[in-house]
Amino acid sequence: MERINVTKSFLPPKEEYQSYLTRIWDSSWLTNNGPLVVELEEKLKQYLNTPYFSFLGNGTIALQIALKALDLKGEIITTPFSYCATTTSIIWENLVPVFVDINKEDLNINANLIEAAITEKTSAIMATHVYGNPCDVEKIESIAKKHNLKIIYDAAHAFGVKYQGKSLLDYGDISTCSFHSTKVFHTVEGGSIICHNPELHEKIKLLRSFGHILDNYYVAGVNGKNSEFHAAMGLCNLNHLESIIQGRKDIFRIYDSLLDWNHLEKPTEKTDNLDYNFAYYPVVFESNIITDRVIQALNKENIFPRRYFYPSLNQLTYLTNYQSCPVSEDISSRVLSLPLYPDLDHSIVEKISAIINSNI
Ligand SMILES: *Cc1c(COP(=O)(O)O)cnc(C)c1O
Repeated sequence: MERINVTKSFLPPKEEYQSYLTRIWDSSWLTNNGPLVVELEEKLKQYLNTPYFSFLGNGTIALQIALKALDLKGEIITTPFSYCATTTSIIWENLVPVFVDINKEDLNINANLIEAAITEKTSAIMATHVYGNPCDVEKIESIAKKHNLKIIYDAAHAFGVKYQGKSLLDYGDISTCSFHSTKVFHTVEGGSIICHNPELHEKIKLLRSFGHILDNYYVAGVNGKNSEFHAAMGLCNLNHLESIIQGRKDIFRIYDSLLDWNHLEKPTEKTDNLDYNFAYYPVVFESNIITDRVIQALNKENIFPRRYFYPSLNQLTYLTNYQSCPVSEDISSRVLSLPLYPDLDHSIVEKISAIINSNI
């Protein structure tokens, strides 16, 4: 029995990648802002319709550079329902994560609870557009303006999502993205930062290249660059993006039609004016016991959904003080992301749906 994972990395036809390899061999330029990195940045700027875009080594270094570039101090208000990198990047930069609980509907940070968490030490809000669901960007922006806070969106799930006609990566002071091989659009490993002003953009580019330009050393930077080989994968995959999203959508609609919604909740596609990327297919069960039962039943058939996201990040054992987030803690024990990728066989989607329906 073939093993079915929650996702499977997209690979372009080998010849397409090989034609870029020929160019790399011809130029002997492997990394350090080479021609393919520049070309990928240009194409992504056009695709996202945003002028200040930097290609980086991964989505985690993007979060760290974002926190550094904005000169943040003290406390960062953040979501407990995300991948651990959202929290660990804050800790890594010697900042303090302050968790604000999530909405039951879309599992994003509950914007109505943010103001109560602001103190004189708060310098920013860092929220995740979880599963590509847009945060309440209007409300978060008005709170940030009122209290003079910066906004960083961890938009690792949001590539290909449009909200109100523009890319969801175009909101906040900074949006970061991940191009890891498990994401909708990938460069094997990779990430990016989008910002909205030229000085900040220059600072980000300096920070990703050790903080120096030739013999001029300006700041203590880091190695956040990415290579020609990774850019080549991105250039290939960008040409297939539309069909990747369409293929995911087809699978998505089969789950929609087959699953028993009397005993399940679907926390995606809750927002109007949304052009969705079909990044994940999470379902929320009625109890953690049912969730465990479904996992067992699927595993028995060699099918491996993932608990995205569990544990709730406020419960990470290495945090020094426990901050309660009841909604996130409850939902993280009841949520599963189901297998979703363009060439997932439709008969397997039917099998997964039947196993779930008979166990809930
Ligand atoms: C994947 C992911 C990251 C980390 O990105 P990497 O490119 O793997 O470093 C950060 N945040 C979220 C929400 C993610 O899903």
